[in-house]
Amino acid sequence: MTASELLEKTKVFLLDMDGTLYVDDAPIGRMKETLAALRRAGKKLVYCTNNSSKTPEEYVRKLEKIGLWGDGDMVYTSAIAAAEYLKRHHAGKSAYILATDEVRADFAARGIPLDEENPDVCLLAYDTTLTFPKMKKFNEFLAAGKFYAATHPDAVCPALPVSAPDVGSFIELFRVSSGRVPDVICGKPYSVMVEALGGLLGVGKEEIAMVGDRLHTDIRFANLNGFCGVLVLSGETTAEAAASSADRPDLILQSLNDLASLL
Ligand SMILES: [Mg+2]
Repeated sequence: MTASELLEKTKVFLLDMDGTLYVDDAPIGRMKETLAALRRAGKKLVYCTNNSSKTPEEYVRKLEKIGLWGDGDMVYTSAIAAAEYLKRHHAGKSAYILATDEVRADFAARGIPLDEENPDVCLLAYDTTLTFPKMKKFNEFLAAGKFYAATHPDAVCPALPVSAPDVGSFIELFRVSSGRVPDVICGKPYSVMVEALGGLLGVGKEEIAMVGDRLHTDIRFANLNGFCGVLVLSGETTAEAAASSADRPDLILQSLNDLASLL
């Protein structure tokens, strides 16, 4: 597929953030102008991240601060997907959630009853305020056989000077300590992420493109769900890694800014 064909057929762009729009909070090149040009061309922009450490409102504020947010844009995180999943499949059930206070409050606002003592469900989100007492309690609930969900599988989160442990690393920790692995994982590349998203967008799969810098989450997500997969080389993936991967992008760009000259 060419970049022109991509622009022709795509109505909704699902945009990964870290490594795709910015690196360490600095927008990549003229990203502000590129996103504005996509909006002017009538494209819907959905910021689609596995990172469940922030609420949608916190992401909007962050994107506003670095000049990338625009009218009509939408944020969709693995935490939103997890909340929608729990409402559909565990309606009315209470949850013990490893997450920041802000994210836990967001789950409560979305109708998930929080329970610290005897929850029906355990959910592992990206808790950047994690403490040993929280981990110990979560492990006890897992050992008791509670339903176990995780927001996303990423082992590490891009950070300076080195990548930080992410939910995938904590999944391994709890696998060793409790013998349990998640009963469901909600983020990219899994289908739970798209079940809740699909109804919101109201367009066909072939009109959706997923743009991201990771082969095993962003591009696999596109391939598994019938979206167009656009790999950008502005983040963690090199051209060499892309050439030898089983996760095949439909199009490879140096960065999303490559589209600007066509708009
Ligand atoms: Mg990324």
